[in-house]
Amino acid sequence: MLPLRRFALITVALALAAVVALADAPVAPTPHAIGKPPTSPLVAVEPGDSPVILSAPHGGTKDVPGVSPRKGDGLPVGGSGFFAGRDGGTEELAHATAAAIAKKTGKKPYLVVAQFHRKFIDANRPPEIAYEDAKAKPTYDAYRGTLASYCREVKKRYGRGLLLDIHGQGRMKDTVIRGTKDGKTVALLVQRYGEKAHTGPNSFFGLLAAGGYKVYPEKLADKEYATLSGGDIVQTYGSGDYGIDAIQLEFGGDFRDAASRTATADKVAAAVAKFTELYLSDK
Ligand SMILES: [Zn+2]
Repeated sequence: MLPLRRFALITVALALAAVVALADAPVAPTPHAIGKPPTSPLVAVEPGDSPVILSAPHGGTKDVPGVSPRKGDGLPVGGSGFFAGRDGGTEELAHATAAAIAKKTGKKPYLVVAQFHRKFIDANRPPEIAYEDAKAKPTYDAYRGTLASYCREVKKRYGRGLLLDIHGQGRMKDTVIRGTKDGKTVALLVQRYGEKAHTGPNSFFGLLAAGGYKVYPEKLADKEYATLSGGDIVQTYGSGDYGIDAIQLEFGGDFRDAASRTATADKVAAAVAKFTELYLSDK
């Protein structure tokens, strides 16, 4: 009887000691506490080793478990308001473009790609109108938190950077539409290299046009297409506190179908390579 009781007492004492030791042990910082963004199985992320970041928020096809589709109550329809349709082919195009850039330049771009369908979360909107169900927040935060952290990392490593936000539009199927809020999201680039870096033949869209692409605005200094001139992503990360520039690329259907994606990715990679050499190379 006695040895058993003693054993029980010792066990309790040891357990108490362990609890005290745990309470005193220094707490390891959680990923959140050291600024690491949350991850999600519905957001593909890939750190890079170049000052270029690719984002594609609207190409995903997957459901967000336990979350109902957004209804858009109280939001205007279209433009920067409510729209739940996906940008077909842009998830694949973003991955193909990342691979093409790596092949062409030997350096990987940073990559953030939505696998979730836009009807659940619109990652190109500020959080208050991006989702309607609180259960969608961790997925949204994984997308935007990672993108924000990549933008900061690029600025820190390279002193500058370019974010390309990849989308699809249904207005002009043979055209790529530029979105910079008429130059606002590339203001740092223009400060360093002048207006020509935004609207000249060696600007990003000038390089795409030289590669044979129909672009809008066709005259690069003209006003951009009003409802596709740059969403929340390029406005948030481009030429503001993040210290990098950002351009929204709205690809017509001709560039996004399965047969064309590889060619599109190669063409964009060629423009990225030249742009990097011209504007992103020295600190
Ligand atoms: Zn889009």
